[in-house]
Amino acid sequence: MKILIIEDESAIRDMIRMGLELAGFSCLEMEDTRYGLNFVRDNKPDLILLDWMLPGGSGIEFLRRLKRDDGCKNIPVIMLTAKAEEDNKIQGLEAGADDYIAKPFAPRELVARIQAVLRRVNQRAREDVIVVEGVRLDNVSHRVTVDEQNVKMGPTEYKLLNFFMSHQDRVYTRGQLLDQVWGSNVYVEERTVDVHIRRLRKALDSVVNANKYGHLVQTVRGAGYRFSSD
Ligand code: CA
Repeated sequence: MKILIIEDESAIRDMIRMGLELAGFSCLEMEDTRYGLNFVRDNKPDLILLDWMLPGGSGIEFLRRLKRDDGCKNIPVIMLTAKAEEDNKIQGLEAGADDYIAKPFAPRELVARIQAVLRRVNQRAREDVIVVEGVRLDNVSHRVTVDEQNVKMGPTEYKLLNFFMSHQDRVYTRGQLLDQVWGSNVYVEERTVDVHIRRLRKALDSVVNANKYGHLVQTVRGAGYRFSSD
């Protein structure tokens, strides 16, 4: 397990690193968030310890950027703060932090919090797998398999399939699908939906030596689309 420590005070960073290494974690360190997002994308830590007060941008701003980034948003974050104020805690949790620990803390307490968060995240991850017939969608690795073979599809087709698989047997109009999958602030023509539905069906039918599952995405005449195994 790889933990990224973002903390500007080197003494605290060292203390944390030593405690975590003793507990069997490997550590990456950063003293500010300047190159943070790219670093996180490249290194994919299992968890981030993020200091609240950092030079050149507060930890909370960085947390918000992480949570807006598709490649980073699922990485759990524990906020570290010197100010044990309730306001900070609420703000941090609202911005998407998984936990919060006030300085000074004992390394053992930190390790216990990290383990608790990782357990919770793994629990969540298990629920993030949806299977319908031979189609399996894994929201953690962002992979789709058909009869246990990988399927290549674009990000929009993935989001469409994810929406359909978590909302089965219901009919959605093109407008509703645009709102749910593309987002309500995006201007896209309704026929764009048809294009991506075609691509999604093609992807589900594309695997050699596997069954075809494109028929799960059904056209409902005069209404829209439905995902169903019936
Ligand atoms: Ca600091």
